[in-house]
Amino acid sequence: MPTWLVTGGAGFIGGNFVLDAVRRGVRVINLDALTYAGNLDTLREVHDAPGHVFVQGDIGDAALVESLLREHRPDAVINFAAESHVDRSIDGPAAFVCTNVVGTLNLLEKVRDYWKSRDDAGRAAFRFLHVSTDEVYGSLGESGKFTETTPYAPNSPYSASKAASDHLVRAFHHTYGLPTLTTNCSNNYGPYQFPEKLIPLVIAKALAGEPLPVYGDGRNVRDWLYVGDHCEAIRRVLEGGRVGETYNVGGDAERENIEVVRTICRLLDARRPRADGRARESLIAFVADRPGHDRRYAIDASKLKRELGWAPSVTFEEGIARTVDWYLDHQDWVRRVLDGSYRLERIGQAA
Ligand code: NAD
Repeated sequence: MPTWLVTGGAGFIGGNFVLDAVRRGVRVINLDALTYAGNLDTLREVHDAPGHVFVQGDIGDAALVESLLREHRPDAVINFAAESHVDRSIDGPAAFVCTNVVGTLNLLEKVRDYWKSRDDAGRAAFRFLHVSTDEVYGSLGESGKFTETTPYAPNSPYSASKAASDHLVRAFHHTYGLPTLTTNCSNNYGPYQFPEKLIPLVIAKALAGEPLPVYGDGRNVRDWLYVGDHCEAIRRVLEGGRVGETYNVGGDAERENIEVVRTICRLLDARRPRADGRARESLIAFVADRPGHDRRYAIDASKLKRELGWAPSVTFEEGIARTVDWYLDHQDWVRRVLDGSYRLERIGQAA
């Protein structure tokens, strides 16, 4: 089985990807700095598995990245590591440039040197897959969808930093021949998402009976993709994508934010009615809009469907119900995030 170096594999999408890869028998070297968004609780199922090596460290640490590549000789590097929350990027953009741009550049340089040191067969088989976002394309009007040729127009410090990293990945392919692949995906949701993002935040607050903050008029539109379907898309691109290409990934599930929040309220009311019987929609509280809030994102994923036969396996309605059930069944995981105790977790130690 192959060996993959996965960065950011203690985060939301990276964690889901690592769990699945190890279950499939892939040997995973998991490099994660364990920022506030990294959570070893997520990796409990694999922490003793012989196919999983966790290393706490920064993608910007040149010596560490070099030694991991030399020691483990991976067949692919999959880069999830990033600062990922738009609101945090508005409050403090520097950390986003540090990890998403400078960190990715360091990773690319070390990976290029390692790739060049391999024999012909090793070089031909190697892949560097960069996981990115649809937010690099900016905001859409009422109609249209982002394609792989849509010009970049990032509007937040987060999306600007991801756009810069995408450009570096592209440049490393064109300049040095590094066999790169880039995926640009829409909003993900599902198990193990940090409860600062819309869906887990609303679930946590709705269960606690707290106000449910919704930006502006709530009518901003996002395309939503279940995280397992994103992980499957990444695997397909890794295994069959054309080197140097980018692939858009989306769920064909455009929803207004307010609709997402109402759906969660209805699902929770049906599963866990409130003691006073009141509908959770009454908790919705519109708050001042996020500065520079993009109005609408929509993804045209037809290239990925056509070339690699990928399609989402669940609808938004199935995925959101599954996600609500997961959070209800994993209240301990949420509680440990909310009270901060997840940060004390170390692999091999019981909570
Ligand atoms: P996340 O914030 O949940 O996880 C990021 C992980 O990266 C964390 O475990 C964190 O500890 C780690 N990390 C941060 N800085 C690091 C550094 N310098 N070195 C090593 N590790 C570091 O993010 P996510 O939602 O899982 O997103 C993963 C990737 O997918 C990101 O690149 C993001 O831009 C992209 N993406 C996310 C979405 C989404 O909806 N969440 C959609 C499309 C693309």
